[in-house]
Amino acid sequence: MIIVMSREATSEQIENVKDRLVKEGFNIHLSKGVVRTIIGAIGDKKRIPSLALEAMPGVERVVPILQPYKLASREFKDEPSIIKVRNVEIGGENIHVIAGPCAVESREQLLEAAHKVKEAGATLLRGGAFKPRTSPYTFQGLGEEGLKLLALAGEETGLPIVTEVMDIQSLPVVYEYTDVFQIGARNMQNFNLLKKVGETDKPVLLKRGPSATIEEWLLAAEYIMSSGNHQVILCERGIRTFEQFTRNTLDLSAVCAAKMLSHLPVVVDPSHGTGKWQLVPPMSRAAIAAGADGLLVEVHPNPSEALSDGPQSLTPENFSILMNELSRIAPVLGRKMAVAHE
Ligand code: PEP
Ligand code: MN
Repeated sequence: MIIVMSREATSEQIENVKDRLVKEGFNIHLSKGVVRTIIGAIGDKKRIPSLALEAMPGVERVVPILQPYKLASREFKDEPSIIKVRNVEIGGENIHVIAGPCAVESREQLLEAAHKVKEAGATLLRGGAFKPRTSPYTFQGLGEEGLKLLALAGEETGLPIVTEVMDIQSLPVVYEYTDVFQIGARNMQNFNLLKKVGETDKPVLLKRGPSATIEEWLLAAEYIMSSGNHQVILCERGIRTFEQFTRNTLDLSAVCAAKMLSHLPVVVDPSHGTGKWQLVPPMSRAAIAAGADGLLVEVHPNPSEALSDGPQSLTPENFSILMNELSRIAPVLGRKMAVAHE
């Protein structure tokens, strides 16, 4: 529920309400606006009537949150959340592009990709070290060696790193090197993993599961947030439908829906969303037009030689053309392409 304090509420009255809720086992989230303070409280709703909060001095209104997800909902927090990753802020006016190869393959491959995506305007670097592959016989990633290379590329370019954490066992090592944990589509409902990243202090890029509804996706975010970590970035990456021509069906309406239902930023991954590099630029442009806060794009120095996801990877040249197009589209929509800081 949300407790809306009156404009005149004193800090002592706010404290009293907070204390009362904490004593009753509620988790509190305080949001101090210019005009009034709002207290978000998550806990056993059966206890709410007996609390008689509306009778407490300074309380204007008590509003129940109807959605099954609470912390992630717009009802809980109306203003958009901005997730800070080092000097980057995702969810504000600026559009951020996370780019890099599907998998870290070698020092040369990663460094070349990193420098080229930075030059073209990407503000975060992606790359998988632990890869969730459909077949056990395909390249599984370089593991910790890949993480070290990502850290090196991050240092050379100044770009924050986004990389996938596949399981609880590898979480500590991924934590050492990454700036953002990516939770892959296949792990969206790995609740124990969600809770564990929720106990950390690093932002989490949460991909939508291939067959997850928007509500299930937001409930996955809720697992992370209710474990204490509110720094969640949602990522639409396509869902499984009857269509075979594309790898997945990129659900751009989910971007608008998620932004309507939640205050969390939403980025779009047109690479996995389509599986075809030719479709990545148009779907990127459409994603920005639909209101996405950013993109996640696979870029490989030589896609035809890629060890994973070559067919959906852009060359650095095509990526650069796309970034130019986006910088012309963003202002029309009242947004700006973010610029990388040194
Ligand atoms: C990836 O980003 O390389 C990846 C494996 O994505 P997804 O979990 O969306 O399939
Ligand atoms: Mn990939």
